[in-house]
Amino acid sequence: RFAGKNLQNMKPWIRSSRLASTLAFIETTKEGAIVPSSLSALNAAQQLGNDITAILLGSQASAAANTLKSSIQCSKLNKVLVSGDAAYDHYLPEKVTPLIVNLLEGEDYSHFVVASSAVGKNLLPRVGALLDYQPVCDITKILDPKTFVRPIYAGNAIETVENTQAKTLLSVRASAFDAIIAGKSDKATIEDVGSEEHSGGDVKWENAKLVESERPDLSSASTIVAGGRALKDKATFDKILLPLADTLKAGIGATRAAVDSGFCDNSLQIGQTGKVVAPDLYIAVGISGAIQHLAGMKDSKKIVAINSDPDAPIFKVADYGLEGDIYEIVPELTEKLKQL
Ligand code: FAD
Repeated sequence: RFAGKNLQNMKPWIRSSRLASTLAFIETTKEGAIVPSSLSALNAAQQLGNDITAILLGSQASAAANTLKSSIQCSKLNKVLVSGDAAYDHYLPEKVTPLIVNLLEGEDYSHFVVASSAVGKNLLPRVGALLDYQPVCDITKILDPKTFVRPIYAGNAIETVENTQAKTLLSVRASAFDAIIAGKSDKATIEDVGSEEHSGGDVKWENAKLVESERPDLSSASTIVAGGRALKDKATFDKILLPLADTLKAGIGATRAAVDSGFCDNSLQIGQTGKVVAPDLYIAVGISGAIQHLAGMKDSKKIVAINSDPDAPIFKVADYGLEGDIYEIVPELTEKLKQL
């Protein structure tokens, strides 16, 4: 059983939509702010060219719907669907999926768009399985409403995918699309969508243990200072990286080697099995540049690499390379930056 439905017994419905129209799933923080990756997903939804209906769920949905209307400029945004049902807080996919499937089963929507966030990655495969559609995941470019570009093999190849199914389910790599521009979307109406029966009755939100940090979140930081195995241990990682990050007001990232060695929390891992980032400036400190790490940062606008090995692969993707000892270069760089 999957989210309360037996897949074998599902009706094999394949109906094409009457009109091209996009349902865009928008996430909010628990304070009711729209999460940045959803603003990028909305920009991608706009590029599809269809009319857009946004959907917001959970206790903050109504307030966030007003914020959405008054803070973004999206001429295609016709409608904002909200359900203030607290059962949708935390976006447990078992709870959210039945509502989304119900909306998509009709003929109103040809496209469904989510950010390729933890929430989107949790939701989209369930929706795809229940509707019997193959989602197109992690797109980085829209060529036309049926054709998309996305990275595969940990970013080592880029493929162009044409979706020939009647509906198109998409997750959007947020770092590949700018956030939708600020402004107003006055013509959008706000409608209550109620709440579908929550089939995930045996699933309950318990709690979240999040690492609180004053630093910019990796997904939205415009500068990231990231450290690798060369930092030796947690105390050294902090001693070398934090002053540089503080000076630049940067977020901190790390390689899997650094995380596995206990230098920092695993929420800081960047790469294939960590976060995918594309800041304006990425400073890689003592990082070799393994393909799994590059998969998470090589789309950064400017990459600075500091490494003592001139053959380190990180230099192949770096815009600026500093060959030398991080223990000399990073403190010197930090001091010079402080004087600017
Ligand atoms: P190393 O490769 O050991 O590099 C350390 C670098 O520091 C070297 O280039 C060295 O020249 C340099 N150095 C050492 N001392 C100094 C000094 N004093 N001054 C200057 N430079 C110095 N890795 C990730 O990062 N993210 C992932 O998401 C990820 N996912 C993975 C998934 C899978 C399935 C697998 C198999 C691996 C994954 N990895 C991932 C691991 C990845 O393959 C590498 O092992 C890892 O990225 C290496 O981390 P590193 O660059 O810190 O360490």
